[in-house]
Amino acid sequence: MENNVKIYNTLTRKIEQFIPNEDGKVAMYTCGPTVYHFAHIGNLRSYIMEDVLEKTLRFVGYDVKRVMNITDVGHLSSDGDTGEDKMLKGAQREHKTVMEIAAQYTEAFKADCAALNIKWPDYVEPATHCIDEFIHMIEVLIEKGYAYLAGGNVYFDTSKLEKYYVFSSGVDEEELMQGVRDDVSVDDNKKNKNDFVLWFTKSKFEDQALKWDSPWGVGYPGWHIECSCISMKHLGEYMDIHCGGVDNIFPHHTNEIAQSESYLGHKWCNYWFHVHHLNDRSGKMSKSKGNILTVSVLKENGYDPLAYRFFCLQSHYRKPLEFSYEALDQATSAFNKLLKKIAEVKEEGAVDNNAFNEYRKKFEDALSNDINTSNAITVLYDVLKADMTGATKRALIAEFDKVLSLDLLNKAASFGEDTAEVDDELKAFIEAKIAERAEAKKNKDFAKADAIRDELLSKGVVIKDTREGVTWQIQ
Ligand code: AMP
Ligand code: ZN
Repeated sequence: MENNVKIYNTLTRKIEQFIPNEDGKVAMYTCGPTVYHFAHIGNLRSYIMEDVLEKTLRFVGYDVKRVMNITDVGHLSSDGDTGEDKMLKGAQREHKTVMEIAAQYTEAFKADCAALNIKWPDYVEPATHCIDEFIHMIEVLIEKGYAYLAGGNVYFDTSKLEKYYVFSSGVDEEELMQGVRDDVSVDDNKKNKNDFVLWFTKSKFEDQALKWDSPWGVGYPGWHIECSCISMKHLGEYMDIHCGGVDNIFPHHTNEIAQSESYLGHKWCNYWFHVHHLNDRSGKMSKSKGNILTVSVLKENGYDPLAYRFFCLQSHYRKPLEFSYEALDQATSAFNKLLKKIAEVKEEGAVDNNAFNEYRKKFEDALSNDINTSNAITVLYDVLKADMTGATKRALIAEFDKVLSLDLLNKAASFGEDTAEVDDELKAFIEAKIAERAEAKKNKDFAKADAIRDELLSKGVVIKDTREGVTWQIQ
């Protein structure tokens, strides 16, 4: 199948033409969430952009099979196998069992994905369902001489590899090591500093909740092994594209490649797609810092989750993105203006196939150029300005929304009903007041938030907090 898709590949550090192993088909893998807490909107930036990647590949005609794991065991608070057990920490925090915590936050993650129109991957597999597969892979790694037993645990021996730092050009090991904590205790069982645990039996957590029998004693798997096994279970020995946030590059993806290629004896995955972080003013957003921003918090503050998706799509996935409520307000206002313009497009005339194909191609080209979502949105604005029938415009909007997933036509329809007769000045006033109220709620100044609601009411404007954000109507 011919395609024009070019993607930045972290493995080669170049933008490359995307050519899957099997013509017309794509095997895609995404590192899933560690379900010990809500996903924060930074995590969800990664999942939104990976969703756009998947939908772009489908848009150009590929049959995509996408797999994601759910980490419900084995992830310690440092990605380098040290620190506390994340799932145990979640269970203790909420006085629940690890499995209750896993079920609760898997459901919460599903709901977040639904609110953000992120397609649920074709296969989603919790790590605890695949213990036999992990044990088998570890046995083979020991047999082949890539793993050793020490102090009761099984470790991967990174000195057996020709090149361990596959994502680095050799001079920038330091760069890869950034973000890996060095204030953690050294594990004396390791022969080399980068060796990592495949199976733990000697755990420092006496009340480790989940344990399984294994040839090396009762214990539990390390974190990295799950992605190698779960992907091979569903996608086989060859994968086209593997995704995650940039913090996954090292050590997680580096270790995934080490163990997968040692196990298989050949190259495993050709393209590596990494989404840069969402930061707030204090730096990278992370669950362990506490005080995390979630989809529910955005909703409580009156924001539409899809306005957050729009905010993410406005910037490129390979640039860090700084979150602030002011920036989200701007995105919300731009999103509402876009919906208003769409609401004005009436279904008139016939679809002009030439114009449809021309603009569809422009949209596809923007996305094919390393998933340039902001240029793709510009093509949408160009359609709205273009001289073509309403029917062509609406057909293009529906087509683009297969990838953008912003519910454009539906939202515009209800938006149009509410606002059609209101002049621009009043609209701007109402929107500013809604934003001011959101800010007040964010600061927990509920008296001020109520006062703003009453002020709007006195002008005949009724506002409503809905699952989709704040809506308003003139009485
Ligand atoms: P976790 O649940 O911690 O395993 O992370 C889930 C996904 O979110 C991974 O792909 C991470 O790389 C990604 N991620 C973590 N923090 C951020 C952030 N601040 N911005 C964007 N993606 C992130
Ligand atoms: Zn992974």
